[in-house]
Amino acid sequence: MNEIWKLNIPPKVKIFFKVKIFAWLLSRGRLKTKTRIASFCDNNDTVCQLCRLGDEDLNHVFFSCPFASGVWQNAGINIYDFSSFDAWFLSWFRKGYHKVNTENLIVLCWKIWEARNNLIFRQKTVSPIMVVHAAATLEAGFRDNNLVRDTFPLSHYGIIKWTPPPPGVFKLNFDGSVRDKNKAAAGFVIRDHDANPIFAGSRSFGSSSVPIAEGSALRDGLYHAFLLKCKKLIVEGDSKLIIDAAKNNCTVPWRLRTLFKDIWFLSSQFEEVAFIHIPREANLVADAVTNHAHSSPTPTTWKQKLPFSAFSAFNFDYFSSSCSRGFAL
Ligand SMILES: [Zn+2]
Repeated sequence: MNEIWKLNIPPKVKIFFKVKIFAWLLSRGRLKTKTRIASFCDNNDTVCQLCRLGDEDLNHVFFSCPFASGVWQNAGINIYDFSSFDAWFLSWFRKGYHKVNTENLIVLCWKIWEARNNLIFRQKTVSPIMVVHAAATLEAGFRDNNLVRDTFPLSHYGIIKWTPPPPGVFKLNFDGSVRDKNKAAAGFVIRDHDANPIFAGSRSFGSSSVPIAEGSALRDGLYHAFLLKCKKLIVEGDSKLIIDAAKNNCTVPWRLRTLFKDIWFLSSQFEEVAFIHIPREANLVADAVTNHAHSSPTPTTWKQKLPFSAFSAFNFDYFSSSCSRGFAL
C-alpha cells in the first residue's frame, strides 16, 4: 500500500500530514476503532456512536454504518458494487483508477472519522451532508491553489459543487439552450474569488441548435472577460463537445468552425486559461442567466449584479452547498 504516500492529498502542511497518517493507519487497519481497542484492553463498549446500531469496526465506520452510507450517497458515490470496505478500499489502488478519485475518497473517509471523533470526544454532531461539504471545501482549496497543474473538477468523483476561483483568477460559466420553436439563447457569468458576479450577459438569437447556442455563450463570455482585462481565467461549461473543442481535444463540427476561430483567438489573449467540463448541476447560475434571454428579446448585460431570476442559483453557489446528479433548484 505504498501508493498512499504518493497521493497528492491536502492543502496546508498540517492537514497534509494528518491525512497522510490517517490514510496509512486506514490502509494497515490500525485506526483505533472501538472494536480494535476492545481487542487489547478491557472495554466492552464497542457500539458505534454515530448510529448505535452496530459494533464499530473499520467496515462499519466507513461502509455499513448508516452515517457512512449517508455520506457516500450525498457525495454521489455508489458503494453497492462491493461487499465490504476492505474490497472497496483495495479497488481504489487498482491500475486505471484515477489518483484524484482515491485522494477524494480518502479525504471523505478522514472527514467521517473526524465526525466520529467530534461526537465521541467533543459531543459535537454533524450530518452526512456536512461531511461531504467539508471534504469538498478542503479539496476545492487544494485544487484552487494548483490551478494549472491539476484542474480535475470535483464532479469527476461524485461531488457536485460550484467553487469560486482562487484570488487573482476569474471564473467564467457559460450555458446555451434551445426552447420552443428552436429559439436559442446564450448566457454567461464571470465571478471572482469571493463568488461575486463581475459581469453577466444573455441574448437570444432565433432558431438554432444547442451546440451553436453553447458555443456562442462561450464566445460572448470570453469576449467580455477579455474586455474586463481578466488575465487568468477558469472556464466551465456543461457541454462536453464545446469544452473538448475549446481544448482542441476533438474535431470541431463544420457548423461551429467560425465560432471556434473566435474562441481560440480570444483564449490566446489570456495569460492562463483552463477549460473544465462540469455537470449541469454545477452550472446553475449560467443556466438561470441564459433563461432570462428566453423571456426577454433584447440582449442584456449586468455589471456587478445578476438578474433577479438567477438569485436562488447564485445563493446556492455562494453558500457552498453541494448536490448530487439530478439536483434542480
Ligand atoms: Zn454506525
